[in-house]
Amino acid sequence: MIDNSLITLNENALENNISFLKKKLGDKVKISAVVKANAYGHGIEQVVPLFEKYGIEHYSVFYYSEAIRVYNCLTKPSSIVVMGWLCEKSIREAIEKGIEFFVFNIERLNIAIKSAKELKIKAKIHLEVETGMNRSGLNIDELVHAIAIIKENIENIEIAGFCTHLAGAESISNHFRIQNQLKKYKKMLVTLENNDLHPKYKHVANSAAAFVYPKTRMDMVRVGIMLYGFWSSTEVFIHYMNSNHIKKDPLTRILGWQSQIMAIKEVKSGEFVGYGISYLAQSNITTALVPVGYSFGYSRSLSNKGRVLINGSRCSVIGVVNMNMIIVDITNAGNTKVGDKVVLIGKQDDLEIKVSAFSEISDELNYEILAHLPDSIERTVIKQ
Ligand SMILES: *Cc1c(COP(=O)(O)O)cnc(C)c1O
Repeated sequence: MIDNSLITLNENALENNISFLKKKLGDKVKISAVVKANAYGHGIEQVVPLFEKYGIEHYSVFYYSEAIRVYNCLTKPSSIVVMGWLCEKSIREAIEKGIEFFVFNIERLNIAIKSAKELKIKAKIHLEVETGMNRSGLNIDELVHAIAIIKENIENIEIAGFCTHLAGAESISNHFRIQNQLKKYKKMLVTLENNDLHPKYKHVANSAAAFVYPKTRMDMVRVGIMLYGFWSSTEVFIHYMNSNHIKKDPLTRILGWQSQIMAIKEVKSGEFVGYGISYLAQSNITTALVPVGYSFGYSRSLSNKGRVLINGSRCSVIGVVNMNMIIVDITNAGNTKVGDKVVLIGKQDDLEIKVSAFSEISDELNYEILAHLPDSIERTVIKQ
């Protein structure tokens, strides 16, 4: 564990987001909590027990290794689905453990059937179909082929899901493409059902789709970013606020990130600060050194642009972000001392550094900033 900084997770915020989503999506729509990329940087081991506590029973991950981490956190029976990568050996292990996975090609289907036969345990698969994203999924010919194989091996296969992924529901510019994807999905579903194969869950929506196109909710939605308190895009947020005539964001952010002042220095007017000549002190200033840099999720593009909160004041990052350090200007932060808290993301008094502020400056998506928070930083659950 690296103790240069601390990530805090607010349990009340998490509970709020789950109850908001449950209320909006209703009883008939299952929530699959997407916890890939270490639960969007929040920490699988910290977040999954909380999700479980507040009633989540379905999890989606990308890698088999993430599925195992979720599996080891759970105390009640829940479903876990691998949407992405598992090797042949992992497919076998997944079947043994009852872990579900996407099938988007015939190769994987055949491996699943072979392993299921050997183990005498049904493989629980989600057939992912290609509807226009052109990323992963069975096209119509492959679906027909897969159906034939499944019908011959029906004692080895359970169709836990029939799904696709929409190519960018968070932006209106993709509206037309998404409508076409939905039409294609429905046609392919008819093909499946005409063969008397009925998936347990039909699912296509991520957070954005579930809110922009409510009919995409079907039996289940795969919700990631909103569980953590973020909207997929400003566009989705504004769409929701306007169509519901509300002014206050119903979601609350879970994650805070803080460090501390490692050293304080006085710098004379006319001196450069840090590497090179990117920051020239225009007056006598006081600086604080903070032991967090680009190797720990603090993007280099925040050089001379980032803001942190110290002692209830907003302070600027000056000079370039180093591998392990940043320098901030604390001239106007009042009485500060070594060891004082530095808020990198989150609130202090009535000020807040949002991930979005962070990401707009650095031109990274919320998703990207969160996913880059290193696993090695300690995470701790707090109640507000
Ligand atoms: C990441 C992901 C999601 C969740 O997306 P959010 O925008 O975070 O809700 C859903 N489905 C698939 C296939 C994904 O990869």
